[in-house]
Amino acid sequence: MSGNTQSAAVPLTFRRFKDGDHKWKDWHAKIFVADESHKCPTYIQSTPPCQGSCPSGEDIRGYLNIVRGVEKPPLGPDGKPKMTWQEYAWRRLTQANPFPSVMGRVCPAPCETGCNRNEVEDHVGINSVEHYLGEWANEKGLKFVAPEKKTGKKVAVIGGGPAGLSCAYQLALRGHDVTIFDEHEQLGGMMRYGIPGFRTPRQVLDAEINRILELGVQTRLKCRVGTDVTLDELKRDFDAIFLGMGAQAGRALPVKDAAAPNVVTATAFLRAFNDGRLRYVGKRVVVVGGGDTSIDVATVARRLGAIEHAKPTDFQAAIAGHMAHDVAEISVKQGAEVVLTTVFPVDKMQANKHEVEQALAEGIDIRGSLAPVGIVRGPDGSATALRVAECEAKMVGGRLEIKVKEGTEHDIPADLIVSAIGQAVDFTGLEVFDNGKGAVSADRNYQVA
Ligand SMILES: Cc1cc2nc3c(=O)[nH]c(=O)nc-3n(C[C@H](O)[C@H](O)[C@H](O)COP(=O)(O)OP(=O)(O)OC[C@H]3O[C@@H](n4cnc5c(N)ncnc54)[C@H](O)[C@@H]3O)c2cc1C
Ligand code: SF4
Repeated sequence: MSGNTQSAAVPLTFRRFKDGDHKWKDWHAKIFVADESHKCPTYIQSTPPCQGSCPSGEDIRGYLNIVRGVEKPPLGPDGKPKMTWQEYAWRRLTQANPFPSVMGRVCPAPCETGCNRNEVEDHVGINSVEHYLGEWANEKGLKFVAPEKKTGKKVAVIGGGPAGLSCAYQLALRGHDVTIFDEHEQLGGMMRYGIPGFRTPRQVLDAEINRILELGVQTRLKCRVGTDVTLDELKRDFDAIFLGMGAQAGRALPVKDAAAPNVVTATAFLRAFNDGRLRYVGKRVVVVGGGDTSIDVATVARRLGAIEHAKPTDFQAAIAGHMAHDVAEISVKQGAEVVLTTVFPVDKMQANKHEVEQALAEGIDIRGSLAPVGIVRGPDGSATALRVAECEAKMVGGRLEIKVKEGTEHDIPADLIVSAIGQAVDFTGLEVFDNGKGAVSADRNYQVA
């Protein structure tokens, strides 16, 4: 959405000034006219680094100019502004991204890393401005404006996460009829079933999702494309299909024979928590990861707390879909001891720095440069500890290389082990899109042949 209308692709081939042009004729001119120039500067409009760093392509310069009062809301026939500056700025922001309130809370804000102002003292608080505008719009009940004309084209969107919802929003604004298919009961994808509610409060999420639906977007919930409805049916009934399936399949621990009732993946763990099935954890929880997901798992585990006599099979049951945790209400919960291991040193782990600080403040024990090498089991087959070894890890050509140091193996006792080492697309019923690397191959226009 950034307005880069001109580019410097053609290099300048002439010299505008001769040598010595910058020299003043006398000292009077040098002192009193030094900051003026008769020469015409060359303006090239480029994408500001903040905008260039925003994955959503927000017009950050545009809405910050409105917030600063540089650009005013347009005037109505009565000479008064048609809307407040907050609404005007929110409308500019949401041209690209319909989720300012959610992004204001969870976006790691690469725009701020890219901000020029870092060269001077600190970045502009773009994420906070976005958060404020989103909250303001929710409080005032602002709506998007539906187009007057319809195109008559129908688009099926597979997946009701932020990608699918944003796509539906942009298409609906352009007058297309959109239907979102999602296997869950509710829309939101990982914003609802992954990120815990204390980070994305559900009323905020619902407000921003409902605003999109009010544009006339239809939904088919609890409907998995590939099993409940086939891809061929969608191809028959719609003019185009958008693939927004996200990455639902959690990766199991990369150790031999990792299956045990109390060894689970982060996606399964968080989904059980967000559905309300998981209501307590074991006394000692070990999370393997280092990214944002592992921090969410660790903080959820810490906040849930443990009950005495929790059985390893309780976690398996909760994750399989049983609401067998009423015992949590009658038992006194204790704090869970949560250890988070990462293959990188703690100061180099992938998670957002402020998330790491938050986790440490909540009492999570983060141990760096440790690789999981095995599961230690009790007589009933359930895990009693995670075996780890010291390691050196580095990224080589986009691939993670881990060198384990022989003789440094040791065990971290655990009642529950959660693997938060990444996710992959679940292609069940849609195998035709699987490029063999757990992802979909698309051309330079993001089209799938
Ligand atoms: C625990 C956790 C914490 C995170 N924290 C952050 C954070 O702090 N900041 C941040 O920016 N990002 C964070 N992320 C990442 C962010 O949530 C994802 O990048 C984002 O949700 C991806 O959006 P998406 O729409 O592509 O996929 P998803 O959100 O995964 O949504 C895809 C949807 O499609 C559905 N679906 C898939 N296949 C089918 C099918 N065949 N038929 C019907 N429905 C289907 C899925 O069930 C799901 O509802 C986090 C992710 C996790 C898991
Ligand atoms: S904080 Fe907002 S503006 Fe910045 S990168 Fe994230 S979505 Fe874009």
